[in-house]
Amino acid sequence: MSENRLEIRNLHARIAGGADILKGVDLIVPAGEVHALMGQNGSGKSTLAKVMAGDPSYEITDGDILVDGESVLEMEPDERARAGLYLAFQYPVEVPGVSIANFLRLAINARRDEDDEIGVMEFYEKLQNAVKELDWDDSIIERNLHEGFSGGEKKRSEILQLLVLEPKYAILDETDSGLDVDALKTVSQGVNAARGENFGALVITHYQRLLNHIVPDKVHVMSEGRVITTGEKELAMELDQKGYDWIKDTVAAGA
Ligand code: ADP
Ligand code: MG
Repeated sequence: MSENRLEIRNLHARIAGGADILKGVDLIVPAGEVHALMGQNGSGKSTLAKVMAGDPSYEITDGDILVDGESVLEMEPDERARAGLYLAFQYPVEVPGVSIANFLRLAINARRDEDDEIGVMEFYEKLQNAVKELDWDDSIIERNLHEGFSGGEKKRSEILQLLVLEPKYAILDETDSGLDVDALKTVSQGVNAARGENFGALVITHYQRLLNHIVPDKVHVMSEGRVITTGEKELAMELDQKGYDWIKDTVAAGA
């Protein structure tokens, strides 16, 4: 079996010293696929994303997170990024005095060996292509990272980072960001542009409407700290119409 995948295996996690929040999450995102993770508020979606990023306020009590077969549990957040994981919110909200262009060049080089830094021309070409992909103005790259950015600009900047850094797997938690129509468009444009055989994504969303723009290869449903079922893209629409109680009852009935 191919190891080219992001795998969460029987993951149990809790707030350090507190109650269990994740109670055995199993999930696989093969490279080349975009999956959606849906679930009611409080089901543990954001906790899963934060645990994957290496948030130190959570304690893992069982299970594993594997990137292409390699466990990332013992890795610091920056090592996880080097291993190919991208989590938008692991980046600083604001970096005073550092332009987007400089920040991204540093971020790319931090993932490369010292004698293998990206060429200036290659870097700017990549950056300009990404800016164009998001219908953004070229001047944005000289602005300081997130300084005075609106919510929509921050969202665009997150997706710009995704396109330039070209991670193997991206986890995007869109639940709490109150996506307006423009932000929705930005996120979907970015994810769709990043699609390819060497890219996998887990898009976390409470609402089905994002999935009208990013058509997922699979839909996972989380409830009470576990993935209770996995289906095709139609499952997202069914959930929207019938609600989460319906899927919980269906799964509980052993259907
Ligand atoms: P979702 O993103 O699916 O809405 P969360 O992962 O944010 O769910 O939350 C899952 C559960 O864990 C909730 O009951 C929430 O109250 C609890 N939880 C998450 N983080 C913390 C925390 N830092 N301290 C206490 N409880 C938390
Ligand atoms: Mg959440």
